Amino acid sequence: MHCYVHIPFCRKRCGYCDFFLVTKEDLQERFFSALYEETAERLAALRGSTFHSIHFGGGTPSLVSVSYLERWLETVFRYVSLSDDAEITIEANPEDLTIDKLRDLASLGVNRLSIGVQSFLPEKLLALGRCHTAPDAFRVTGEAMNLFDNVSVDLICGAEGESLGEWQRDLDCAASSGVPHVSVYMLTPEKNTLLFRRLKKGQVTLPGEAVQAALYDAACAMLGDRGFEHYEVSNFSKPGFFSRYNLGCWQRESYLGFGPSAHSFLVSGTDEVRSANVSSLIRYMASPGKAQASREVLSPEEQIDEKIFLSLRLSSGLELDDLLHYHKNSSEVLAIVERLKEQGLLEILDGAIKVSRKGFLFADKVAEELLPGLSAMSGVKK
Ligand code: SF4
Repeated sequence: MHCYVHIPFCRKRCGYCDFFLVTKEDLQERFFSALYEETAERLAALRGSTFHSIHFGGGTPSLVSVSYLERWLETVFRYVSLSDDAEITIEANPEDLTIDKLRDLASLGVNRLSIGVQSFLPEKLLALGRCHTAPDAFRVTGEAMNLFDNVSVDLICGAEGESLGEWQRDLDCAASSGVPHVSVYMLTPEKNTLLFRRLKKGQVTLPGEAVQAALYDAACAMLGDRGFEHYEVSNFSKPGFFSRYNLGCWQRESYLGFGPSAHSFLVSGTDEVRSANVSSLIRYMASPGKAQASREVLSPEEQIDEKIFLSLRLSSGLELDDLLHYHKNSSEVLAIVERLKEQGLLEILDGAIKVSRKGFLFADKVAEELLPGLSAMSGVKK
């Protein structure tokens, strides 16, 4: 089982971000009291379980005092243990990572840092409205690599006016820093963000699909040349340095999510249940024992749709035999596979359907074509 904990605090909201978070730091004490309560209550029912990974996400977990995280881990370890090779990741922003903070995180047992660098270029960081500078990004990445073996940097791709040359400079800085993992996220105007509103008003323009495709292709090519394996749509790692927590989620292993807006997924035999905590800090803190806002038991058809959807995000792909088994009409689904192959979006290697580099950019659309639940070929073989 994996574990996610959502720390919902940020200094300020970035214009493109639609995550659940607040900017009121004075609520931290009350939030952590609630988090300890929720954690103890839920883990008491799972006493004796083993976590293979713990992921501090947010928000900005590096913003809060390490002592809060330490106390949360103490609560966790009263009920569950960690596997010997467990991964403990914290998402961190460069402006929080003093050398002392890095040392404290290492002492806490954190063994993987995921740093929200987003760019190494001063103008791009300004355009994105980030709180750190380019020198911060270089300093922190270097210091993190001195203290941790396993460091990831996030890069944002497709900022306003970004040229191919600028993007290649960012990729080069990330690869040259020695980090064994890079995540690349296309800047997307999510609804209810400042970026979306500015885009609607014509105050900002983002690269079109063709430029986005060229930027993404450059990331695949450059990081591939520098020894990174493209193991998921947005993720590149040196051998063995993939994110265990994220890979577990994509491979549909069980995970428990704590904190407001956190999601959980529990597999027990053939039963699969997804649930989500309430997306309101006030309601969460008022009643942490009743944080769950929704719970859904997946039908066999929904389980299959999810397996196809998530498998196609991964370089390991989906077994062709499995796909044929899921569909009532094999010849129809084979015709779709053939068409997607001809369009250069799919390939079949060693009996598995894999999304091509070109197809990765449209992985969700490719998967939708192959879902028995959404396609014209409804029905699952019994
Ligand atoms: S720091 Fe990260 S989580 Fe916080 S607002 Fe910015 S993008 Fe969102």
